[in-house]
Formats: sequence, structure tokens, C-alpha cells
Amino acid sequence: MENMDKLHVAGLHKEELAQLMAEQGWPRFRADQVFRWVHQKASSSFEEMHNLPQEVVEHLEEKYRTPSACRIILTRESQDGTIKYLFELFDHSTIEAVYIPEPGRGTLCISAQVGCAMNCSFCATGRSGFVRNLSRAEIVSQVNAVRGALPPGAPGVTNIVFMGMGEPFANFTEVMAAAAVMQDKAGMNLGQRRITISTCGLVPEILQFADLNTQINLAVSLHAPDNARRSQVMPINRRYPIEELLEACRVYTAKTNRRISFEYALMAGFNDAPHDAHMLAGLLKDMLCHVNLIPVNPVEGFQRPRSDEVKLFKEILERQGIPASIRKERGTDIEAACGQLRQVHKGERRRGE
Ligand code: SAH
Repeated sequence: MENMDKLHVAGLHKEELAQLMAEQGWPRFRADQVFRWVHQKASSSFEEMHNLPQEVVEHLEEKYRTPSACRIILTRESQDGTIKYLFELFDHSTIEAVYIPEPGRGTLCISAQVGCAMNCSFCATGRSGFVRNLSRAEIVSQVNAVRGALPPGAPGVTNIVFMGMGEPFANFTEVMAAAAVMQDKAGMNLGQRRITISTCGLVPEILQFADLNTQINLAVSLHAPDNARRSQVMPINRRYPIEELLEACRVYTAKTNRRISFEYALMAGFNDAPHDAHMLAGLLKDMLCHVNLIPVNPVEGFQRPRSDEVKLFKEILERQGIPASIRKERGTDIEAACGQLRQVHKGERRRGE
């Protein structure tokens, strides 16, 4: 695959693109045209941008090769319509994104890093180690590549969640820059409320995010109702224990007045007892929040509770005044569910392939 530098065209804000045009002595509207081709029409080549003069096309081809910083190399579609895309990047690293269609909306779950350094024991990505951060172009390109490849009739990409591979707040600058590009009205035109960032609980970045005071949604992975158990499955808890994490969340809510979504993966015999639901409700009782219960997806060593146990857990939370929902299972048959994304190493074949 051709080399693509960090400042790939897909990662440029419209203003940066305008600067690039100005340097060449070309009019500003060329920047708008390129921006629209890249982000509105999800073009896969500069050649197809037929309203651009040849010299502009040639310049862009020479500088960037292609409009997209990632290339789809494998697509797998689940029986439920969920589609998993495997991308190759310029350095042959691979990442995954998952498209989840629902009536009238399409959510794309994208990656922020190649691998992940957080090492949560129930997450397949964490088990495969950390390789590198993604550039803003690589983050934006996942969305554009998928939009250009969706089957006919599928709802477009209306929502973005940073719940794929990696810890988005460990790649804060690039993630926020990518989110800004996605919001541009001349491009994808995704409102902030249609973007969700999920973090394992990096306190300094939660505070930094609070200061930005955006409408971007925040999801926080909690997964256990006490420090002993949280540290056992999420090593990050040793650095930022629950009290500090929830304090940062309170600061976030005070500044933004936005409701936080807490993710809680239910693992049989570990954190799913009625007593745990009461403990969790106690932790969250004064917070503007919502709990997303995720019956853990099959990863070695972890099992789901029975569905009546999941329901009871939800009811206990609700009885204590904590809004809760059970995340619908999507794409497990293609290993596209939460925590099942991981890097495919050279020569490695995944189960079922
Ligand atoms: N690093 C971010 C995004 C990770 S993926 C974070 O930690 O929030 C999004 C969600 O899937 C997180 O809540 C993560 O903890 C959860 N997850 C990981 N593995 C899972 C599994 N096997 N089953 C269910 N959820 C899982």
C-alpha cells in the first residue's frame, strides 16, 4: 500500500485544505470542492473529482495518492445486518470498524488506536497488545470508506461511536481533531450529539474533555462496583480508582450538563449479583447518568449471566432511580460485538475464517 503521511487529506479541516490551495495559488472554492468529494461523497480516488482541473488532481495524487487513509480488505456481514470492516493502513497495520443498522439510523463503531494498551482482561483488543495511535485521517477515513461501501438501501452512517479498538482518550488530540472534521457542514455534517466517545476512565482527559464543553456524548466503562474487582479486570483502576473517576465525571456533568452513559459488562459470577446492582446504584445515586448493561461477549474466561439475572440487575438499578438499558447483542456471529475486535497479525487466521 502507498505511503500516506499523517496530514493525509481526509484529516484536514476545510481551513487547512484552503491553506494548501492558497499555497498553490488556486482559488479557495477548490478546497470546498475537494472537501465535499472526500467527506460528502466518500470518493475513493481523486480522479473521480471531475469538477477539479487536472493540475489540482495531479497535485493531490502526488501528495496524498488517495483521498482515504485506509483501505477495506475484508467485509463480513452478520445475519442481523451488522457489518464488520477490516481496514489496512499504510504501514500494513489492520483495524476494524462495525456498522450497526437500525430503522432510520446507522451507527458506526470506529477504532482510535491499533491495538490497545489498557489491557482490560475481558477485551480481545486489549489481549492483542498496543501498536500505535491512529492519525486523525485514519480515524475519519474509516467513516468515509464505510460510507462508500455500504450495501444499497442501508441507512447511511448517522451516528459515530468510538467503541472499536483502542482507548480514544489515550489518543485525545487526534480523536478530537477527527471529530471536528466529521462535524463540518460541508462534509459528513454529523452533529456533536451523534458522536459518542467511550473511555476506560482516564481522569485527566475526562477533565480536559469537560473543559472543551462540547455536546459530544461521553460513555465511561465501569464494569465493577468496587475497586478490588475493577482493578482485577481493568488495570487502569489502579491509577484512577472509582472515587477519582466518578469525581471527574461529576465535574464533567457540572460543566456540560450532559448525561453520562456508564457501561457495565455483566460477567457471570463476577459482578452480576443483586447485591452488586445495589452497590452500583449506591455509587451512581447522585449522578446525571444512564447505565448500559452489556452481557459480556464471549472472550475466553468470561461468561454471560442468564437473561433473567440480567433483567433483575436492571430492575434493581431502576428501582433505585438509575435509568438502565440492556444493550442488544449484535454481530456476535461475526465477532463484531463489543470487545471482540482485535488486530489480525500476519499469518494468523481467526476462528471461523
Ligand atoms: N477503550 C474504550 C472503548 C472500548 S470498547 C473504553 O474502554 O471504553 C467499548 C466498550 O466495550 C467498553 O465499555 C468496553 O469495556 C466494552 N467491552 C470490552 N470487551 C467486552 C466484552 N468482551 N463484552 C462486552 N463488552 C466489552
